[in-house]
Amino acid sequence: MSERLDVLRLGYRKGRDPRITTHLALVARAMGADGFLLAGDEDKEMFDNLNSVSDRFGGQLDTNHVGGLSHLRKHVESGGVAVHLTMYGEPFRKAIPKIRRDRPVLIVVGGAKVPGDVYKICQYNVAVGNQPHSEVAALALFMDAWFGESASEREFDDARLIIEGVNGGKLVHDLEDDSE
Ligand code: SAM
Repeated sequence: MSERLDVLRLGYRKGRDPRITTHLALVARAMGADGFLLAGDEDKEMFDNLNSVSDRFGGQLDTNHVGGLSHLRKHVESGGVAVHLTMYGEPFRKAIPKIRRDRPVLIVVGGAKVPGDVYKICQYNVAVGNQPHSEVAALALFMDAWFGESASEREFDDARLIIEGVNGGKLVHDLEDDSE
């Protein structure tokens, strides 16, 4: 069984970036993270929406509000591995084989301004290309490379709804609906 993997979103500002942050959490869940941690403003409504996605589509994504730097420090001090996604890092495909997988992993993504300490506390600063782009894109590409193709092909045993893509349409299987 692999170690736990959580995603920490720093600097969340309620009312300014709820869509981006929700998308980050959805990518984290879909690609196999165990938890999504929010530092910055609290947002119960966002967590309720995420829990509702997990109820319907399966999987268990723990959602928690944490202090950003204090949580990161605690994680590293207790032996965890912290990977900061930043355009100022080492290319992700080169970095991934060096990252320890025998410890709980925390993937850190920034918001508007990332405190300098984050670069020092994290054992790995990893870039998904050296251009500025999006935390959602960076997380998706990193997790796909971390888990291999099993990330984007992930299925959840406890899903209530399963979507089957077909050319030109879709099939929705509702496993609680006996009439199907
Ligand atoms: N200007 C901010 C700073 O102080 O670093 C960065 C803002 S950027 C829109 C938000 C986040 O997206 C970053 O903190 C980083 O986690 C992620 N990101 C953006 N471009 C990236 C890249 N090329 N590689 C890895 N992560 C990236």
